[in-house]
Amino acid sequence: MSLKGKTAIITGSNSGIGLGVARELAKAGADVILNSFTDNEEDHALARSLGEEFGVSARYIKADMSKADECRALVEQAGSCDILVNNAGIQHVAPIEDFPIEKWDAIVAINMSSAFHCTAAALPMMRKAGWGRVVNIASAHGLTASPYKVAYVAAKHGVVGMTKVTALETAKEDITCNAICPGYVLTPLVESQIPDTAKKYGMTEEEAKEKVILERQPSKQFATVEQIGGTAVFLCSDAAAQITGTTISVDGGWTAL
Ligand code: NAD
Repeated sequence: MSLKGKTAIITGSNSGIGLGVARELAKAGADVILNSFTDNEEDHALARSLGEEFGVSARYIKADMSKADECRALVEQAGSCDILVNNAGIQHVAPIEDFPIEKWDAIVAINMSSAFHCTAAALPMMRKAGWGRVVNIASAHGLTASPYKVAYVAAKHGVVGMTKVTALETAKEDITCNAICPGYVLTPLVESQIPDTAKKYGMTEEEAKEKVILERQPSKQFATVEQIGGTAVFLCSDAAAQITGTTISVDGGWTAL
């Protein structure tokens, strides 16, 4: 599978799943645009080292995915977009009646609306090129719910809905749109929660992982960023050309329960 000559934009990709997806796309030959809301030397260095490692062009573009104009500017600045991975996301946990309004607004903007703005800016470029792939990183929480995650669950269900609409509006073209729904993935964000969870429940870190964090993941294993990236590469392959408007769970059986 070669994605040589294709340009991929991955939102929220200076760490975690976004970076993992960017690495797998670059490994498959795609030129990549990394993104986050910071503009540090490390961000640009990360893009440079990824480009050198895989012999592709790699750039970092700063854009805050909570802002509509910056989402659209990211795609414009990239200049072309054959593959768009809408990945940026944040989380906040609180009961509905205590859920801070600014957290609701930020989660809806970053986890859902940014996908709308980036897709709107990218589709004309995909149409011009005659080929395009939109991969939305949703979540098992785009298909199921958990208490205290109202904004996240609402936004991720919204992303799954948006995936279907995008697929229908592009169905007659060589453009597809699908959502990957990961269960728990071992990213720095999740890793950092393990010691606190162990302390809170008076467990070892191993027990906290299996009994608390992976409670709903029947495999009792975290998915890896490489597996999410590999799924994104598959969705960009010819084998996936007729897969559109659907979700692919990478969740160790969570949604089979
Ligand atoms: P992470 O915190 O490691 O990565 C999030 C990325 O988004 C970072 O690069 C961060 O800089 C970026 N980001 C945050 N706010 C931004 C903003 N305003 N503008 C631009 N970029 C911004 O988290 P992750 O675990 O890699 O999550 C990535 C995506 O995967 C999210 O959409 C998340 O909901 C989803 N997801 C994660 C898991 C998991 O277990 N880790 C499971 C299911 C879905």
